[in-house]
Amino acid sequence: MRKAAVSDWQPLEQAVPVDLFRAEVEAWARRLEVTPREIRIRPMKRKWASCSSQGRLTFDTDLLHQPADIRREVIVHELLHLKVPNHGRLFKALLKAYLQR
Ligand SMILES: [Zn+2]
Repeated sequence: MRKAAVSDWQPLEQAVPVDLFRAEVEAWARRLEVTPREIRIRPMKRKWASCSSQGRLTFDTDLLHQPADIRREVIVHELLHLKVPNHGRLFKALLKAYLQR
C-alpha cells in the first residue's frame, strides 16, 4: 500500500511497541481467516506495507507512530491481499466491510 494513499496522517508522540503491532496484525489475520506466512516490520521508503505472492507481509516501522485507524487500514488492506491479490471491486467491497466493523 503506497504512502500517498493515506494523505491525512498525523505523527503521534507515542509509538506502539512492535509486539503490540504484531499482535494487531495477528488478531486481524484471525478475523479475516487468513494465515500470513511471515510478518516482517522494517523501514520502507515509499510504501506502508507490501504483500508478496508467497504470503509474506512487510510493514513499515513508521506505522508504529501512526494513529490506530491508519494502522488498521494498512493492516486490513495487506491481509486482504491474501484473499484477493488485486484492487478490484471485490477487494474494495471487502475492505470497506471489514473497516466498518
Ligand atoms: Zn494493495
